Amino acid sequence: MPASRFAIRLLRYAWASPCTALGLCLAAPAFLFGARACIADGVVEVALSAHGRAAWLRALPFTAITFGHAVVGTTARELERLRPHEHEHVRQYERWGPAFLAAYPLESLWQMLRGRRAYFDNRFERQARAKEVHL
Ligand SMILES: [Zn+2]
Repeated sequence: MPASRFAIRLLRYAWASPCTALGLCLAAPAFLFGARACIADGVVEVALSAHGRAAWLRALPFTAITFGHAVVGTTARELERLRPHEHEHVRQYERWGPAFLAAYPLESLWQMLRGRRAYFDNRFERQARAKEVHL
């Protein structure tokens, strides 16, 4: 990898790092209860459960959620299935940095004020859905 590309990649990690740190802090307690982490394409992916059978997993309002270069998901299988979607959110964090933590909910609010759906019509979600792979 040329030095300039490496430097740009390093800057992207640094720019998104406060969000990555937040995600890892939020996920940290789950490691006491069997959560596992791996790295996929430069992103830390945390699987909260091996099988996803626990009742508390079904109570979560998400299957996977992204903070910077950290993705927290219910299981490794769901993380793999949602990888193209969640990694698009990683790229959004690389562009927006910490401002993404405000930009995303503000975009949802904007959509609601226009009479649209906060999640489904959110432009960041539409971009991420465009990256999904349907088999
Ligand atoms: Zn999404």
